[in-house]
Amino acid sequence: MITVNVPSDVQHTLVTALQDAGTNECGGVLMGEHVGHNHFAVRHLTVQGGGRFASFVRGTRSALRALGQFFKQSGHDYTRFNYLGEWHSHPSFSVQPSGTDHRSMLDIVTNPKVGATFVVLLIFKLGRNGRLEGSAHTYLPDGTVTASTLVFEGPL
Ligand SMILES: [Zn+2]
Repeated sequence: MITVNVPSDVQHTLVTALQDAGTNECGGVLMGEHVGHNHFAVRHLTVQGGGRFASFVRGTRSALRALGQFFKQSGHDYTRFNYLGEWHSHPSFSVQPSGTDHRSMLDIVTNPKVGATFVVLLIFKLGRNGRLEGSAHTYLPDGTVTASTLVFEGPL
């Protein structure tokens, strides 16, 4: 079971992105730090979207630039800081992944060019009172999908 922490500064970025996107989906790439056994913290994420957002956003120029910047800042310490997965919003329905979401994530984790041993999908929405709600799922190259634990750190 993988646990993913979302620090309060990242929560703030997410709330702003979700507010800006309104009823449109938004999403991006997650970069994480390995903080313990099966335990990761989101350190940076890219925000794309508004309008028609395709859940497969990797490969866009801004995401790649953000990844490059993140690796530079983290000293190219890939065992500690690395690509963690993807996130997107479900502004007006459940934060559980759709069939398309599952297929997109399995495409990523089985893509030899990505070379990931697992990828995480985080889905967020703004609940009542503008509070962040979310779900976390982990995908393995053998096709396994497991619900994971999402932890919102500290007060927003
Ligand atoms: Zn989705």
